[in-house]
Amino acid sequence: DVRVRFAPSPTGFLHLGGLRTALYNYIFAKKYEGVFILRLEDTDQSRLVPGAAESIEDMLEWAGIPPDESPRQGGPLGPYLQSERLELYNQTAQQLIESGHAYYCFCSPQRLELLKKEALRAGQTPRQPKHSLFPLHPYYPYDNRCRHLRADQVQEKLAHGASHVIRFRLETGVEPFQDLVFGWNRHEVAQVEGDPVVMKADGFPTYHLANIVDDHYMKISHVLRGSEWLISTSKHLLMYRALGWQPPTFGHLPLLMNKDGSKLSKRQGDIFIQSFQRDGILPEALLDITTNCGSGFSTNRMGRRIDELISEFNPSKITTHSALLDLEKLPEFNRIHLQQRIEDTQQSQFLIKELQGQLQQAYPGKIQDKDVLHEDYIRRVLQLRKGHISSLKELLSPTYSYLWVRPSFSSQQVAALTAEAHLITSLVLKLIAEKGEELTLDHLSKDLKTLAKQTKVTKYREVMKLLRLALSGLQQGPSVAEMMVSLGPAEVSHRFQRLLQ
Ligand code: GLU
Repeated sequence: DVRVRFAPSPTGFLHLGGLRTALYNYIFAKKYEGVFILRLEDTDQSRLVPGAAESIEDMLEWAGIPPDESPRQGGPLGPYLQSERLELYNQTAQQLIESGHAYYCFCSPQRLELLKKEALRAGQTPRQPKHSLFPLHPYYPYDNRCRHLRADQVQEKLAHGASHVIRFRLETGVEPFQDLVFGWNRHEVAQVEGDPVVMKADGFPTYHLANIVDDHYMKISHVLRGSEWLISTSKHLLMYRALGWQPPTFGHLPLLMNKDGSKLSKRQGDIFIQSFQRDGILPEALLDITTNCGSGFSTNRMGRRIDELISEFNPSKITTHSALLDLEKLPEFNRIHLQQRIEDTQQSQFLIKELQGQLQQAYPGKIQDKDVLHEDYIRRVLQLRKGHISSLKELLSPTYSYLWVRPSFSSQQVAALTAEAHLITSLVLKLIAEKGEELTLDHLSKDLKTLAKQTKVTKYREVMKLLRLALSGLQQGPSVAEMMVSLGPAEVSHRFQRLLQ
């Protein structure tokens, strides 16, 4: 049975890189009728960010990729919060000690600091595994001194309550493993690092121990995670072997980077999912852009929604190349998905509600004509503007204020209108009176052309400029015909009549 997990640490809010990892796990699970799990790895208590845990789950739900099992959802193999599973890590650490694969280490922080200084002096600074693209942790190798403590020495120290950690005894002779993405891999970890800590002095496990214990007990079949963990996998496999557990299959996802190849920094506030949400970006546009710049699909095309992502996903197509994200294309993705939502009867209903709320906030007390808040009016506006706007928020910008409030003209402006302007305006009024309620974009465009000819003296462009100004008070914007269709005949008449008085 396919069981996959997204295992973020709640040391920060969900960002695009995390969303991408969650998404690939989600579509993998759904493709193979498996289960998608959210597990929060909160073992580094000093780095927890208040609210992050809640928010991560909120954001997955918002994005439309909710977990089947999670801290909030619960599930048969929970709890899904590592801080609630300490017992299990302790037991496992004891198991490792009893089988001789782990040992107590009483080295003081001062001694470790000294080792680090010596290493620095010897120019070994900081050790990196050879093939690491990712300067993850500086490796100051521990010299494994406590491996050699005698049992009675250990007992004595423990009896005195000496502060200690538990370290895993790294063996050489790592077996190669086949990564779903990176192929055969093997890192002789024992040659680059000292024995890693698995239980810290505060009684919490480190990532490495907690991660494999949970993947084992949560019956994870496939571990799909960022490629920065590729080099740790050999270490994890040594731990699986020591415990006599069957390891899951691993697949490491290439990194998500900026289009110029630079690191997608979490410090750039704008890659947090919450900020996209706040800016009116649709979740499906985010899912679409992150899969489009990545791999895992036979073809790339814009506009895929989650069900299509699932059906078109092909894990064997995931490549090792970094995924280069071009955020400048995001408005385009959003435009396409907004159009899809507008065309969907049910979803457009939500959009209408949302826009109604936003309008009331954007124009507090200024919307005199309550009809513009009516859903039929907003629906018409959305139908006319779909494919042109890249977010709902755009409709709150000054360009579209004519839709919601009447433009105001000074008496000077009105007095300055030429005779020609009067003629044009009255012709339009006549046209509207004839057409009645049947204003359609096609007809109106033609009629306006004919009308412009009737005025003889003025160029078409000039006529349109005048009409646009009369309708919106603006020099630019959608076509005059579209403005008229959205506003409707009564409102258009009203706006022109005002100028004739
Ligand atoms: N907590 C780790 C992270 O945030 C999980 C890595 C993994 O999926 O194994 O990256």
